[in-house]
Amino acid sequence: MEQAQVKQSQRGFWGNLALWKKILVGMILGVIAGSILGPDAEILKPIGTLFINAIKMLIVPLVFCSLVVGVTSMQDTRKMGRIGVKAVAIYLGTTAVAISIGLGLATLLTPGEGLNMAATAAATEGKEAPTLVQTILNLIPKNPISALAAGNILQIIVFALGLGVALNLCGEKAKPAIAVFDSLAEAMYKLTELVMKLAPYGIFGLMAWVAGKYGLDILLPLFKVIAVAYIGSLLHVLVFYSGVIKVFGRLNPIPYVKGLVNPAAVAFTTTSSSGTLPATIKCAREEMGVSKGISSFVLPLGATINMDGTALYQGVAALFVAQAFGIDLAFADYLTIIMTATLASIGTAGVPGAGLIMLSLVLTTVGLPMEGLAIIAGIDRILDMARTSVNVCGDLMVSILIGRSENELDTDVYNNTGEVYNHT
Ligand code: ASP
Repeated sequence: MEQAQVKQSQRGFWGNLALWKKILVGMILGVIAGSILGPDAEILKPIGTLFINAIKMLIVPLVFCSLVVGVTSMQDTRKMGRIGVKAVAIYLGTTAVAISIGLGLATLLTPGEGLNMAATAAATEGKEAPTLVQTILNLIPKNPISALAAGNILQIIVFALGLGVALNLCGEKAKPAIAVFDSLAEAMYKLTELVMKLAPYGIFGLMAWVAGKYGLDILLPLFKVIAVAYIGSLLHVLVFYSGVIKVFGRLNPIPYVKGLVNPAAVAFTTTSSSGTLPATIKCAREEMGVSKGISSFVLPLGATINMDGTALYQGVAALFVAQAFGIDLAFADYLTIIMTATLASIGTAGVPGAGLIMLSLVLTTVGLPMEGLAIIAGIDRILDMARTSVNVCGDLMVSILIGRSENELDTDVYNNTGEVYNHT
C-alpha cells in the first residue's frame, strides 16, 4: 500500500491524471496551438499520425483473436445467432432515428437558407450502391489471409466466427488452439492499453492540425450547418442513447456518458470508427462491464455497419443542399432519404471521410445537385469529427444493451465507472 503511494507521488501531477482528463487537456492545448500557428500547425500532424498508425496496428489482430475467443467462450451457437439478430435490429432502428433527428433539425433550423446557390446541372453521377447479392457474396473471404492483410473487417468477422464455431465442435483437441487465441487476445488488450497512453499527445497533434487548417473565415459562412450537425449529434447521444439505456436497459445512463469520453475523444480526433475500435472494446470491457464474448462480437460488427452519426449527417447535409439551392422536397423525398441514408450508412467504411462519398449516393437518389457535395466537402473533417463520435457511442450503447439483455453485463463495474474515473 505504502509502496503504491510512493509510486503515485513519484509520477507527479501529469502522471497521476486520469487518461480522459489528459485527453481533454490534449484537445484544448491542440486547439490553442492550432489557432496560434494557423496552417503551420501541420508540423504537429505527425504526432497524431503516429498515434493513428499505432492504434490501426491493433485492429486486425485484436478483432480476430478476441472474436475467436468470444465465440469459443460462448459455446452455444443459437445464442450467438440471437445476439447477432438483436444487434443488427437495434443498429437499424437507431440509425433510422438518427436520420429522422437530422432531417427534423434541418427542417426546423434551415441551415442552408439564404445561401442562394444556383445549380448548373442536376445530379447525374454518384457512387453506385453495391447490390444485395454482391454485398452478401463479399462477406465470405475466399482467402482469409488476404482478408486479414487487407483489413476487411466484415470478412474477418465471418472467418473468425467460423473458426470459433469449428474450435467449439472439436472439443478436447481444440483446447491448445483456444488457449493460444486467449493469450494472444489478452496481449492485444494489454497493447491497446499501452497505445492508449499515447492518446493525449496524438490527439493534441490532430486537434492542432485541424484547428490550424480551418480558420474562422472558412467556418463562419457554414456555421449553421455545422451547428445543426453538432446539436443533432449531442441530442442523439445524450438524449436518445441515454434514454434507451434508461428505459430498455433499466440502467442509470450517467456511467455510460462518463465512460464514453475516452473512445469518443479518440473517434473525434481520428475520425475513424474502425480505428477507434481498440479503444471502444477496452472501454466496453473495463468501464462498462460488458462481457468479453458480447463486446468482441457486437463492437467490431457495429464499427463496420452501425453508423448513426453518418446517417444523421446525411439527413442534415441533404436538406442543407436542398435549401441552399432552393429545391423543395416532397414527403416521398424524405422517405427516400431515410431509406438510402440507412443503407448508405451500413455501406460506409469506418474510415475518415467515407460518409462524404456515401452522401453522393443520397444526393443522386433524390436528384439534388452535386455542387452541394463540394460545399460540404470543404468542411467535411469538422462534420466527420461529430459523426464518427456518434458512430462509436452508438456501438458502445448497443453492446451495453445486449450485454444487459443477455445477463452479460457486470452492473457493479458499470455503476462504478464514475468512481473509477475519478481515481485512475
Ligand atoms: N468517419 C466515419 C467513421 O469512421 C465514417 C464517415 O465518414 O461517416 O465512422
